[in-house]
Formats: sequence, structure tokens, C-alpha cells
Amino acid sequence: MEALDIVKRESKLALQPEWADICFTCGTCASGCPVTGVDGWDPRKAVRAALLGLEQELVDSRWPWICTICGRCQYMCPQGVQLMALIRYARTLRERDKVPGVIHKGVAMCLERGNNLGIPETDYLFLLADLSKEMEEGTVETEHGEEYPPFPGYYTPVDKEGANIIVTINSKEPMGEPEDMMFWWRIFYMAKESWTVPKENWEGVTWGLFSGDDDAIKEQCGRIIANARKVGAKTILYPE
Ligand code: SF4
Ligand code: SF4
Repeated sequence: MEALDIVKRESKLALQPEWADICFTCGTCASGCPVTGVDGWDPRKAVRAALLGLEQELVDSRWPWICTICGRCQYMCPQGVQLMALIRYARTLRERDKVPGVIHKGVAMCLERGNNLGIPETDYLFLLADLSKEMEEGTVETEHGEEYPPFPGYYTPVDKEGANIIVTINSKEPMGEPEDMMFWWRIFYMAKESWTVPKENWEGVTWGLFSGDDDAIKEQCGRIIANARKVGAKTILYPE
């Protein structure tokens, strides 16, 4: 009988033993995964692909993008396989122009204009001023159709020197749900907190986390930190 010649190929996805080598193929991860079976993939199979040098099949599939990043597989794994890191890294190996959906476009927009949806600075500042006036005058409706009380003297501080807290913003709020920003504003007002929002590069949602773009995350976080240092803020708040 001929010996079976198994050649383990080098894998770009098995960077550390914790990512694949220590898996003993029990299948616990697959049994609890909400996307097991989609396109014939599951977390155990993803780990096997990484270990056996078949990672390109995983990278080219849509499965890493269907994974919800819920973490259940990793939580349940008796071996402590770092499934989250593995699946997310599979996303980083996808060519950028083949990243599904709009998330890569949002990342590129954020790097170019400082927020995922490309809201111009003038529109952003106008909105802040407009909402501030509504808060001050008490003309904002609650979700029950009543009106919030006025907040006399309220304004939204922008790049306020010496603020204690600097607050990032999810661009979907100024774009479509501006009243959601006011929840924080009311708390700050009532607590007499010293706070501010940045004038530029204020995006608080790092879509690079989902698109697998580590360089973009680094750049975006660096900008937020620079904003904090510019005004001397001690705390950065990511409401998301
Ligand atoms: S639960 Fe862990 S050890 Fe079991 S198959 Fe999944 S990754 Fe491998
Ligand atoms: S993180 Fe992804 S692979 Fe793991 S259980 Fe959740 S959906 Fe499944």
C-alpha cells in the first residue's frame, strides 16, 4: 500500500497556532453558528481551510462576509481557537475593490472627507447650530409626541479648548436621525459636563473593522486621538 503523501501548504490565514493548529475538529463552533451551512461553509471548515492552505477558497467566498461576527463560535470552542481573528483576517485578504456592499466605499469616503457618508463640513455645522437652537427653545418632540422642555443657553460646542470629553458621531445620525445625538447632549447639559464635538474627522464608526481594512482603522483612530489632543480632552466618547 502506497503511503499517503500529505503536503501541508503554507497558509496566509494560519498566522498563529491559536488561529487553526490547535483545533481538534470537534465541530462545537459549527453547531452553534447561525450561518453554518450557508454556501457549504461553517466555522470548523473555515479553520480547516486555513490550516490546510486552502484559505483562498474562503477568502473568495462570500461566507466571511455573511458571518455576523457574533463571537459565539469562539466563545464555545473548547480549544480557544481564535476564530474571530481568523474570519476577520480573511476579510482583510479580499481585494479592496471586491469587498461586498458599500462598506469599503464608506471607508474610502471617511478617509477622504472625515465621515463615512461624506457629509460636508458646512452642512454638519449648520445642522449642529440648528439643532442647538431647537434644544434651547424646547421645540423638539419626544417619541410620544410631547415636547422636551427648553434647555436655556444650550449650544453644541465644536472644538472647545479644554473640554473634558470629546464626542465622536455616527454619520447616520446627522444624515437621518439627528434627534439621536440630542440624547447625549441633554445628559451633558444636565450634568454640567465640559464636552465638545470635533469640527472635522468626527466619524465614530470604524467601518474598516468590518471591511477588514486595518490601515484605515489606524488612520481613523489616529485622527480622533489628534482631535482629542488638539483641544486637550481627557476622554474620547464613542457613543456607538
Ligand atoms: S470548536 Fe474549536 S476545536 Fe472544535 S472544531 Fe471549532 S475551532 Fe476546532
Ligand atoms: S462569529 Fe461568525 S462564524 Fe462565529 S458563530 Fe458568529 S456567525 Fe458563526
